[in-house]
Amino acid sequence: MKKANRIANVPPYLFAEIDKKREAAKARGIDIINISIGDPDTPTPAHIVDAMHKAIDNPANHDYPPYEGTMAFKEAVAYRYKARFGVDLDPKSEIIALIGSKEGIAHIFLAFVDPGDTVLLPNPGYPVYNVGTILAGGVPHYMPLRPDQNWTPDLSQIPEDVAKKAKLMFLNYPGNPTAAVAPKSFFEEAIAFAKKYDILICHDLAYSDVSFDGVVVPSILEIPGAKDVCIEFNSLSKTYNMTGWRLGMAVGNAEAIAALSIIKTNVDSGQFKAIQEAGIVALRGPHDHLDTLNAMYKERRDILFAGLKKLGWDNPPPKASFYAWLPVPPGYTSASFIETLIEKCGIVATPGNGYGSGGEGWFRLTITTPKEKIIEALDRMEKAGIRYK
Ligand SMILES: *Cc1c(COP(=O)(O)O)cnc(C)c1O
Repeated sequence: MKKANRIANVPPYLFAEIDKKREAAKARGIDIINISIGDPDTPTPAHIVDAMHKAIDNPANHDYPPYEGTMAFKEAVAYRYKARFGVDLDPKSEIIALIGSKEGIAHIFLAFVDPGDTVLLPNPGYPVYNVGTILAGGVPHYMPLRPDQNWTPDLSQIPEDVAKKAKLMFLNYPGNPTAAVAPKSFFEEAIAFAKKYDILICHDLAYSDVSFDGVVVPSILEIPGAKDVCIEFNSLSKTYNMTGWRLGMAVGNAEAIAALSIIKTNVDSGQFKAIQEAGIVALRGPHDHLDTLNAMYKERRDILFAGLKKLGWDNPPPKASFYAWLPVPPGYTSASFIETLIEKCGIVATPGNGYGSGGEGWFRLTITTPKEKIIEALDRMEKAGIRYK
């Protein structure tokens, strides 16, 4: 069988080795605590599930949906963007429904990147940006995220010739895996850069509504003039505990939305209308569940960081997202530390180098695990003598 080069070019699945170690530990009878998964562990709010029950019974929802999303879904997205961010969007030209935002993120490269084209990517970053670039034949230029600059890239370090060639720049705040929230001043800088070099900014806002300590996460589209050079990917997955439902949206620059629509029209046939109807109910609110959800995540975060502090990690707790992004203790690599956590504590965490070379020396924990498990994990680390220093 002769496979395409693009398959060979996809980097090896970095977590395969971890999966093996976890299975081996399980086979030895070790009780595994998995604090590596970024997937809400509580159910979709009941009023959204109820809406789905009704929608699925309606035969009008059983046929092919419009490719770009139902008008009612896009209007609900526009309503939510106005209410939440104060951003005006035209449902006809500036919004497209996605089968989860990952689908749109993976497809945007096909709309903008020809073989050999340069794409600016955050390092560390969500792996889909890198693989999407490679599948389209593009050439990633990695922007190192600097811990001393709150995990934002230093745009002045991008060589002029690279900037001139670049077609897309991916940004993601709150970040996965870094949990960083970018100040609006960084978005302003990035937009000025994109205008100067004619680059489309793709901002991934998957964690817009998971935040703590009074932090209100901005949309990049709040910046005046952003729509000239930006689209934003957003999703119902994390805001409404709907990861399995597969519903998201891309919003912003009309030309970019139209280009993405050409790819999608020819690749998929849109998301089930009943799911979009439930999505409308989610987007139109009420949003009371967010207070409960974020209070629960905050409690877990506080337990985790109090425990980590006792173990020598003096890192500030994240203000948003599900993630604790932490340095491995001196003397370890990301991989060797993760292996030690599995072997000595039965704890599964994520090695930072799975998010690119910029993640080497770091690891990621999540707060989508019940607090009892977090307490147990911290206890096991203490007993095994695992400390930052
Ligand atoms: C979870 C996540 C997504 C994907 O969300 P879906 O809408 O479920 O596909 C996108 N980007 C980041 C950074 C994520 O963590």
